[in-house]
Amino acid sequence: MSYDQDNIFAKILRGEIPCNKVYENEHSLAFNDINPQSKVHVLVIPKGSYTDVDDFSRKASKDEIASLMQAVAEVCKITKVSLSEGGSGFRLIANTGTDGSQEVPHFHYHVMGGEPLGLRGLRKN
Ligand code: 5GP
Repeated sequence: MSYDQDNIFAKILRGEIPCNKVYENEHSLAFNDINPQSKVHVLVIPKGSYTDVDDFSRKASKDEIASLMQAVAEVCKITKVSLSEGGSGFRLIANTGTDGSQEVPHFHYHVMGGEPLGLRGLRKN
């Protein structure tokens, strides 16, 4: 799949569309999901143009990969879901492609938590 420069997250990264920023570092941005499915629902994205987690894992530099995982950790700390910070956990999801029900074709992790999730995010209702 080639990268679509007009996807909604590319527009957020270019500042053409606003977002509610939670955290940012050199290679990553995290912001609240516009339609949260749990009390904590943050999207963590690389600033580079990657379509999905597989594309990112294959092509991103070690710095970009480290930066993204550091952003996930910071988001978990900021939102108080991190087990290391006394939180009660979260779910990290990377929907991928058609079978994974990926809507936005720019790689993103969903960090979901703040309440017991059951199977939310894993199965459709
Ligand atoms: P996917 O199904 O691709 O894994 O999830 C895409 C997510 O992006 C959805 O949870 C959806 O609510 C969120 N989303 C779509 N458009 C926007 C937007 O313009 N701003 C924000 N903050 N989130 C969005």
